[in-house]
Amino acid sequence: MSKTTVSRLVKELIEEKYLIEVGEGQSKKSGGRKPVLTALNNSGRYVIGVDLGVTNTIIAVANINGEILKKIRKPTIRNHNIGGVVSYISNLVEQITEQAGIEKSLIKGIGVAIGGVIERETGIVRFSSNFSWKNVYLKKLLEEKTGLYTLIDNCTRVMALGLVWHQKGISEKNFFFINAGFGIGSSLVIDGSIYDIHSEFGHIPITYENVLCQCGKKGCLEAIASGNAIERKANQLYNTKNSWLTAKNVAERAKNNEQLAKIVYNEAGGYLGKGISIVANIFNPKKIIIGGGVSQAGDILLKPVMESFSKYTMDIIKEDIEINISPLGMDGGIYGAITMILNERIFNISIFNKDIPAF
Ligand SMILES: [Zn+2]
Repeated sequence: MSKTTVSRLVKELIEEKYLIEVGEGQSKKSGGRKPVLTALNNSGRYVIGVDLGVTNTIIAVANINGEILKKIRKPTIRNHNIGGVVSYISNLVEQITEQAGIEKSLIKGIGVAIGGVIERETGIVRFSSNFSWKNVYLKKLLEEKTGLYTLIDNCTRVMALGLVWHQKGISEKNFFFINAGFGIGSSLVIDGSIYDIHSEFGHIPITYENVLCQCGKKGCLEAIASGNAIERKANQLYNTKNSWLTAKNVAERAKNNEQLAKIVYNEAGGYLGKGISIVANIFNPKKIIIGGGVSQAGDILLKPVMESFSKYTMDIIKEDIEINISPLGMDGGIYGAITMILNERIFNISIFNKDIPAF
């Protein structure tokens, strides 16, 4: 690219408010004009991220450096009728734009993270068991309602993307990410790119126990180690009748040394560790990171995971693998959603590795 072309492009980017002038640099020894120094314009363009969970929704507005300016967390609308959910998200977009004091015209787009089988290219939700949706054109519906360009993708892939780009403690380019929430999902990151083929870690057959999974099969990892499974087991053991213990309540009880609660987490963690052992034997990734709501139990979950992983994994494999709880906590989805839309609309970076063959 010639110097004149670069100057013209920089001028355009300044006019379009993507860049700002931050001063002048040193003149070259040969003389000439002092170069103009530029930086990303933090108040020029914005993006919105939405983490649409079955229980809670998080929405955030960020500048083009990916810094969150305003974040709202609200219980997700109970009625999962598609029109209602689209209006619910659209209202949240209006609310956050207003609260952040940002002109809507400066927003470049919305990134939405949602559970289920999602076709990112078309923006169609092929299947979402949580919302009971099949072949819903969510991208188009949201774009029509909000007037803003929208990208949607599976929440687990989005969370892994958040880890890759924010790198809070994750310098590793090859890792396996597990989203242990209401269900269990996973995403494989190879050389810093998300492996872009749909997979179902939560549905590997892990036990002969007669536990029925949401997918219709028996003995899946998700049916015995997910947040949903933890709640079901705990309420059964505690014999709750008029109340309902959440996975979070059970973790708190386990931390207070309550025996029944510890049994529940030891069992869930034990099966999760066994599932991780299978992954380790196949991929041998440097790191395995556990995120999602269940990971918030911390050591209550991690301890039985490590014990079981150690029990089932051969020494030569397990010595090289580190297992951690995600450093992004419950914000993994929102950071990932922001990253997804920034990459597409501002930086135009390909983040999904299509060169890796399916296997
Ligand atoms: Zn299943």
